[in-house]
Amino acid sequence: MRFSEVAGHADLKQQLVQSVAEQRVPHAQLFHGPQGSGALVLALAYATYLSCQDRQEEDSCGLCPSCLKYDRLVHPDLHFVFPVFTTKSVKKDPVSDDFITEWRNALLESPYITPNQWYSYIGMENKQGSIIKRESEEIMKKLQLKSYESDYKVMIIWMPEKMNPTASNKLLKLIEEPPPMTIFLLVPEDTGPMLPTILSRTQMIRVPRIAEEDLLDALKKKHSVSDEILKSAVKISGGNFVKAEENLMTSEDSAYQLELFIRIMRLTYSREFQAIFEWVEELSVLGRERQKAFLAYAIRMIRENYLLNKEQGELVRMTADESNFSKKFFPFINDGNVPVIVQELNEASIHIEVNAYARIVFLDFALKLVKLIR
Ligand SMILES: [Zn+2]
Repeated sequence: MRFSEVAGHADLKQQLVQSVAEQRVPHAQLFHGPQGSGALVLALAYATYLSCQDRQEEDSCGLCPSCLKYDRLVHPDLHFVFPVFTTKSVKKDPVSDDFITEWRNALLESPYITPNQWYSYIGMENKQGSIIKRESEEIMKKLQLKSYESDYKVMIIWMPEKMNPTASNKLLKLIEEPPPMTIFLLVPEDTGPMLPTILSRTQMIRVPRIAEEDLLDALKKKHSVSDEILKSAVKISGGNFVKAEENLMTSEDSAYQLELFIRIMRLTYSREFQAIFEWVEELSVLGRERQKAFLAYAIRMIRENYLLNKEQGELVRMTADESNFSKKFFPFINDGNVPVIVQELNEASIHIEVNAYARIVFLDFALKLVKLIR
């Protein structure tokens, strides 16, 4: 992760680069900011820079062996600690290394990861993770080793507030008497539950909310949607990267849902089976939440079109694009097929909910629709 990949915070980046150039690298630092401000990515970019073998004036080089390993989060001198759980496969004393593959994948996928995203990534939506005593023993072991490839060993501790008292006290000891050439980067979501003695011994880096224009620039690089959609997603995000992306997904998804809906209605009407199979394939890889969201959307569209057919236009709530399509579509939605189509959509949603094989659920629905849309 390079500084250039972190949204905004130009001043902070400058300050961090400067401290490395002047060889003023505190051995314990705390990156803290509101959710979605990017404290964790910033810490990661800083660690990448510290370890880079060809540091540039403003950023790591992105090309040296160290940068390449940091890019995939597999550098041998980069260590992570984060909250974990007991699971079916890790029954006792879970530590971060038990989940390191999932952690790397989650972080590469969503560098602005939130606690909820992490918990749901490992299927623990309704649980709280923790950092236990055994983890501090693992930390000691790792830090006793000499660094393998870079000058510094970096230990990034995400959500140190989840450390139990024993682990916290061990961390405090380590911060008080750090092993040589070791840098601790603590990234709490909430400093409240942390030991005041830990807080007072770390250098605090305050990460502010991301400025609107910086957030806009960062999202532009990642999403190819209109400026108008981007701007409104950013406007209501409060400088929170995660929130802005969520807003974007919602507006992107409603356009996509309409497109999926129009496509399947046309294809089933014209009985283009090859294209129907492709539609089923596309839906089956969307992920359960988006599949359910599409089915709910389809039910709404069927109801709105039924209202149009019943000349209840004043009750209809549709966007301009939806009503454009519906002008020609509503005559096909009538007393004869509405109850069955809605029932089929509801059943599909229940099947998806219980983790049925999505490909079969959507194929079944599409083939029934061929008979229903006549
Ligand atoms: Zn480099």
